[in-house]
Formats: sequence, structure tokens, C-alpha cells
Amino acid sequence: MNMKDSKYEAVIGLEVHVELKTKHKIFCDCEVVFGDPPNTHVCPVCLAMPGTLPVLNHEVVEFAVRAGLATHCEISHSSRIDRKNYYYPDLAKAYQLSQAEEPLCLNGYVDVITEDGTSRIRVNRIHIEEDAGKLIHTDKGSSLVDMNRAGVPLIEIVSEPDIRTADEAVAYLRKLRSMVRYTGISDGRMNEGSLRCDVNLSIREKGAEQLGTRVEMKNINSFNYIARAIESEFTRQVSILEEGGRIEQETRRYDEKSDQTTVMRSKEDAADYRYFPDPDLCRVEIEEDEIEEIRKSIPKMAEERKAEYIEMFSLSEYEAERLTEDKVVADFFEAAASKSRYPKVLSSLIMTELSPLFEDDSEAELPLAPERLAALADLLGDEKINSNTGKKVLRLLLEGDLDPEAYVREENLLQITDRATLLPIVKSAIANNQRAVEDYRKGKETAIKAIIGRVMKETSGRAYPLLVEEMILELIKED
Ligand code: ADP
Ligand code: MG
Ligand code: ZN
Repeated sequence: MNMKDSKYEAVIGLEVHVELKTKHKIFCDCEVVFGDPPNTHVCPVCLAMPGTLPVLNHEVVEFAVRAGLATHCEISHSSRIDRKNYYYPDLAKAYQLSQAEEPLCLNGYVDVITEDGTSRIRVNRIHIEEDAGKLIHTDKGSSLVDMNRAGVPLIEIVSEPDIRTADEAVAYLRKLRSMVRYTGISDGRMNEGSLRCDVNLSIREKGAEQLGTRVEMKNINSFNYIARAIESEFTRQVSILEEGGRIEQETRRYDEKSDQTTVMRSKEDAADYRYFPDPDLCRVEIEEDEIEEIRKSIPKMAEERKAEYIEMFSLSEYEAERLTEDKVVADFFEAAASKSRYPKVLSSLIMTELSPLFEDDSEAELPLAPERLAALADLLGDEKINSNTGKKVLRLLLEGDLDPEAYVREENLLQITDRATLLPIVKSAIANNQRAVEDYRKGKETAIKAIIGRVMKETSGRAYPLLVEEMILELIKED
């Protein structure tokens, strides 16, 4: 079903968990590391041995404040840590330390761009909490527990239900991922679980004020699946209402293979968690001067760079948005642009040829030096090589380092822009393609493509296509 044409609209709020890459866990001195052997980063505190006490790692507060400032939140000078009680085999204390009524950051927003324009998604709150351990289910039917992740710091970013479409949801998540990478608080990798998203979705008739009953879909781990889960759940809810049914408030699981959501459990309410202030911890205090220090330490973010690129390099809004989303890419672009006379050529090389390499969750590291790409952009910009050759050189650059300028000279790949060299080739191409010439004269302008193609073939793709076209037209008109 097409969401745009429906008489209903989706109302979506996202809860995003981000694993912070602080040096130590949130309440003990264990290191935060991903991928080590199970239970090698544990201690009596994060294993919840009786008699141990938590001590808040202040770096977690600092990281969360960075996220709060980057999303235009108010920062509370004093907030509280609460116990959220529930039982799970990888939650040894049988409660999670989190923040309920008095979170650290409040009332922010994130602006997102989609094909339909710009919209502002309000952030209700950002709070700090601890992650649980991980269950590993073996094929023998037993389950093992790895507590390395227990006590890894998280922030939860809760949006207002301001999102209306799958595109908007994905744009919002991309913005958050960009934000956590720019501020250096997390690697934001969805495939490793450092950025996880719960989707809350209800529907209502377009124009209606009142919110419908929402369904929550837990932990969907790619942009693509989030978009598909939204569309699938929207369709399901619309058909229930159309048949006169009622939406149940529940938690559902999205299954990628069947593209369906299925029920996990009926939704618990806040009251079920028996929240209360943790008696073992003090309040979280942060002074205004420290907040200011943190504000100063935040690097120039995507928004600001975007405006600069549009201004300095005459890039389009879309181009600038894509180039600045990832800090590694933006830094790369800036380093290369400072060495090239053709920033627009550079930008298009990065967007079309390079960015697919580190889309979503691949290691954000570019496999070539910015100077090399700058040299290639200049060869293209000066029309010394054509785009075919450009692609070929770029492929080689990705395989191993080489000097583009020297390479195209040695391999004789320079574009032929010299009329005297081209003339005999063009003449013979015309002589061998009299049909095309006649067609062209009868008004079929595209006919000369065949002649151009011939010349390109004869020159192993090195002729300058625009010049070839010009010469053909001159010669045809002469006789
Ligand atoms: P809880 O803490 O029980 O999960 P919250 O009120 O904090 O509930 O909301 C969680 C998320 O659900 C938020 O992102 C919020 O925007 C979203 N949400 C709340 N009500 C609705 C609704 N009727 N439709 C869609 N999303 C909703
Ligand atoms: Mg929730
Ligand atoms: Zn520990």
C-alpha cells in the first residue's frame, strides 16, 4: 500500500539506544570493548554480586551532554538515576539503572531533509542508562550468558511522535548516526548493535488530532528494515481499522524474511517497572561551566559544514548533505578540495564512486589518500582524461597507491584533444558510416552517435567526445 495515497497517516516516535564508547563501563572500572571473548570484561559490580556498590563514571555524563547539546536539548544541572525493575537472565540485578522522571537532557530537536522537504523532529528526552549482558543461544538448545556488555553505558534518545513516513524515520536516524560520530561518543554501527532502534507506530485519519493506539517494534537493525517494518505495520493497522477492528497496544517483532510483524507480548506500562530512585547513587550534578566546556569541545558539525560547502564550492543542498553526513567523508573531501581546482568534480567522484564503499556499517575509512583523488579530479577537470579513463584510474587507486598524473602519461591514456590527430580518424569513420550521415541529414540527430562511437573505439576510448562531435558536424556540413 502506498502511504502517501492512504486516507490514514502514520504517527511514528523512535526510541534510539546508542552505546557510548567511553573507556570504562558506567558504574565500574571494566573496560568497554566489543568482540572480545565472553566474560573477559567483568567484575563483582557489573556481575551484581551482593554487597557491591555502583559509582557513576562521569565521562558518561559528559558524552550524554554532547549528544544533548548537538540535538539542541536543555541540559539539567541535576538529574536522577532510577531503578527500572524487570527480570531477564542477562540482567543479573533484576533491575536496570536508568533515568525515568528526571532525565539529563530535555526538549531538543533534529531537522531532517527528505524528498518532501525539511521537517523538525522534536526530541523529548535523552537519558543515560546501563546496557544488559547478552544471551547466546546454542544449536544444542541451551543458552549461555556473556556479561561483557553488562554495564556498558547507553544513552536513549526518545523522539516525540513527529515522524510521518519511512523516509523521515530513516533521515532522522541517519542524522543521529552522523551526530554520534561527529561528537565522537559512539561509532554508531547498527550491525554491531551500537545504534539500536525501537519504532512506535500508530495510525489516524489524516487531519485528525488524536493519537491512535501504538504498537512498538523492538530492535530493528538496519535502515532498510526499519523502512520496510514501518510500511508493513502501517498496512496491517490500516486493514484492521478498515475491517472495523481495534488496534491492541503491544510489542511486535518485525521478521525480515516474511516482511510481517508478529506479536511478542502485550505492552507493559511504566507502572509495571516499579521505578524508584536508586538509593546507592547520588544525584547526577553538572555545573554550567562544565556544560560550556563541553559545548566548546564539540567539533564543527554537519549542518555548519553543509552551509559552507554550498557557499564555497557551489554544491547543491543534496550533495552537501551527503558529503557532510559522515565526518570521515567530510574530512576527506575537505583535505582533497584544498589540493584540487575542481571541488565539484571531487564531490561527484566521492558520491558516485566512493560513498557506496562505506554506506551504512562498513568501516568508515577511505582506502586512498586525498591528494590522489585531488590529482585525478584535476585531470578530469582539465579534460586531460575523459570519464571512462577516470573510472579506470580510480579503480586502480583503490587497489593500490599510484600517481594518477604519471600513470596516465606512461600508459598513454591522455585524452586526444588535438584536431590534427583526430582528423583522419574522424574522416574514415564518416566514410564508413554513410547511412548515419544520411539519417542525420534527414533530421535524425542521434544518428551521429554511431560515428562518435566508431572514433572512440578507434582511439581506445581516448578521444575527446565533444570535440569529435564538433568535427563530425563540420565535416558533414562541408560536403
Ligand atoms: P514508553 O516509555 O512506555 O515506551 P513513551 O511515552 O516514553 O513510552 O513513548 C515512547 C515512544 O513512543 C516515544 O518515541 C513517543 O514519541 C512514541 N509514542 C507515544 N505515543 C505514540 C503514539 N500514539 N503513536 C506513535 N508513537 C507514539
Ligand atoms: Mg519504550
Ligand atoms: Zn565491571
